[in-house]
Order: sequence, then structure tokens, then C-alpha cells
Amino acid sequence: IVDVTTLRNWLIRFAGDVEEFSALLTELDSAIGDADHGSNLARGMKAVVSVLADDSTPDSIGPILKQTGMALVSTVGGASGPLYGTFFLRMAASAGDCDALGPDSLAEAFRAGLEGVLTRGKASAGDKTMLDALIPAVETLESSLASGRPFDEAIRAGADAAEAGRDATTPMLARQGRASYLGERTVGHQDPGATSMALLFRAAANTMI
Ligand code: ADP
Ligand code: MG
Ligand code: MG
Repeated sequence: IVDVTTLRNWLIRFAGDVEEFSALLTELDSAIGDADHGSNLARGMKAVVSVLADDSTPDSIGPILKQTGMALVSTVGGASGPLYGTFFLRMAASAGDCDALGPDSLAEAFRAGLEGVLTRGKASAGDKTMLDALIPAVETLESSLASGRPFDEAIRAGADAAEAGRDATTPMLARQGRASYLGERTVGHQDPGATSMALLFRAAANTMI
């Protein structure tokens, strides 16, 4: 069960992880982009944490996710701001105004977030983007729950799948975003957005169980 406290802990953990790995994310983006993914996302998640610390932040799942998405859209520029923002805004709409999400509702919210990123970014699996971590994470969580595995195992399997998906971006040729302009030169480099997305799911496994 993901209640309001757990949800906040997840977002705060992710913010801390993004801060910790900000230099790595930026270094990865310097190889195939414009060297700002770490600073972009760190700025955005810092804004999210300060929104969460504000006493006027609503204490309900959907509204917290909505404020998270809005903070990211307004503070993170570039490609990843609107995409991460959309992810949380779609999660918010799926979750609605409730006190807690059970495993299936959480998986549904993640699925809604994924669909939002697909619609907004118009990329597909294999394009060397955050989707290459996000798609396997959500699919693995769903299939693990459907096969009756307990939530802790399912969310850990989702995080493992996100990391495997992240690693699988290294040999890919970028077909979306700024990296796509570099074509063949992107082969051999891990995608920064897939790297941050894997942090998001590892943070979930570390805080939701
Ligand atoms: P920018 O490229 O504008 O500088 P960032 O560096 O913050 O933005 O984010 C780059 C990351 O965004 C990429 O590593 C990739 O994972 C992700 N990305 C870019 N375009 C798309 C897209 N159309 N769909 C999904 N993810 C994308
Ligand atoms: Mg960049
Ligand atoms: Mg940029």
C-alpha cells in the first residue's frame, strides 16, 4: 500500500538520488546531448521537495502527484521537463483524490504515466530514451502482479527491469530528442533520461516496501 507518507518518501528519495547522481546524469548528457540533464532534473526535484514541505500542499495522492508534475513542468526546461511533468500529471489523474494506492492502482497510475510520455514525446521503445527504462519497468510490474507475486517482489522486479532497460540503451542509436542529431555517434553511450528513470523506479522499490 502506498499511502501519502510513502508517496512523499518516494519523491524525496528520488530527489536525493537525482542530486547525488546529478554529475553522472550531466556527464552522460554531455556525450550525446547538451550536458544539462543532471542540473535540469536536480533543479526540478528540488522544487518538488520544497512544494512537498509547504504546509498548504494537499494531503492526498492525486493532488500531491499533480503538484509534483506542475513543479517539474515549470522548473525543468528542455525535453525532460514536459515529459517527467506529464508522467506525474497522468499518474495524478489516474490516482485521483484518495488516501492510498493498492498495488493494482499503483500499477495503473504508472501505466497512465507511461502512456502520457508516449503521447507527449512520440517516441517508441528502442529509440534510446527514458522510455527504454520506463516501458520495461511498468510492463514487469504489471506482469509480476498479474502472476500473483507479492507487491514487494513486483516493485523490485520493476526496478530491476528499469535498470536492465537503462543498460540496454548503450548500444542503441538515438532516434528522438537532441541526441538523435548525433546519429551513429550516440552508439556506445548510455541514455541520460533512461538513467534517471531507472533511479525513479529504484527509489520506488526502496521506499514503497
Ligand atoms: P534536453 O535534451 O532538452 O537537454 P534533458 O537533457 O533534460 O533535455 O533530457 C534528455 C533526455 O530526455 C534524453 O536522454 C531522453 O531520455 C529523453 N527524451 C528526449 N526526447 C524524448 C522523447 N521524445 N520521448 C521520451 N524521452 C525523450
Ligand atoms: Mg540535455
Ligand atoms: Mg537542454
